[in-house]
Amino acid sequence: MNREIELSSSLISIIIPMKNESATLAQLFSVLTPILADFPINYEIVAVNDGSCDDTLAKLIELSKNEINLKIIDLSRNFGKEAALYAGFSYAQGDCAVAMDADLQDPPELILEMINWWQQGYEIVTGVHQSRESDTYLKRKTANLFYQSINKVSDIKFTPNAGDFRLLDRTAINAFLSLDERVRFNKGLFAWIGFKEKLVYHKRSERTAGTSQWKYLQLFKFAIDGITSFSKAPLEVWFYLGIFTAIAGFLYGVFIFTRTILLGIDTPGYASLLIFVLFFSGLQMVGVGILGKYIGRIFIESKRRPIFIVRKIYDNLNANLHGEGNEF
Ligand code: UDP
Ligand code: MG
Repeated sequence: MNREIELSSSLISIIIPMKNESATLAQLFSVLTPILADFPINYEIVAVNDGSCDDTLAKLIELSKNEINLKIIDLSRNFGKEAALYAGFSYAQGDCAVAMDADLQDPPELILEMINWWQQGYEIVTGVHQSRESDTYLKRKTANLFYQSINKVSDIKFTPNAGDFRLLDRTAINAFLSLDERVRFNKGLFAWIGFKEKLVYHKRSERTAGTSQWKYLQLFKFAIDGITSFSKAPLEVWFYLGIFTAIAGFLYGVFIFTRTILLGIDTPGYASLLIFVLFFSGLQMVGVGILGKYIGRIFIESKRRPIFIVRKIYDNLNANLHGEGNEF
């Protein structure tokens, strides 16, 4: 089903969330803009400055003097990549948009292939890492474990090794924006909205400069957020575990009772008693902790705070379109 898309009258938005990317900017733009400029499609680059503490914003403003298609969304603080991407999609005006990282780990050449699939009718084109050679062994293993477990417990299917590098058609962008939850797990949200999806494979290269913003502890928290966002299994497992331990406890009680009746009182038992108490109080604590995770989520979501807050928008082309300050 070939969609009749006249490229020359279409606009593509390239959304790039940035936190402390000062060192990568020059190279990013020297690679990205020639590729886009050579292609017969209108483009805009939506750079979201996600509370950088270096001179990312100053460099972006400098770049925007020569790059009139660059729109800068300066957030009031660091809201995290997921929220920064949401901000980018909110301000993107394209018929389609591609989200990519600033560090060139997502090859910009692939955008052309993505546009090609978009023209052929796909509403989402997802970049999948063919190899994770640039990641450490531990990161590869934990990523595999994450995808295996989330796909077991979640109703929607997550494509392993798909990052946020993907093209969304306008219909998919609007659907994505309509999911306005505060705790955002984009991989899941992209999968949840559905649409016709095409996977394109690429090698994930090394970061061009700067350092990754993700620490292992953050990744672990992110994985737990993902699982608790898209599955009720961690909540429900306690019901079954409870039934199982109650039955086991009852049977053990019957055994102890009968033994005491038949053989008399057996005083020793301190060790087994202690083990039971410790084990089951630990188990209960985990259960309460999981409840806490979900209640914490309800607490955050019920406040309905904005997902991001904009300090200022720098936009050469639509200077009059946006005011300054409290935009969200
Ligand atoms: N990023 C962001 N806000 C954050 C952390 C990261 O906007 O709080 C951006 C970052 O500047 C980069 C992209 O998200 O453009 C991916 O980040 P990073 O390269 O650190 O992640 P990794 O490639 O290691 O997954
Ligand atoms: Mg990176």
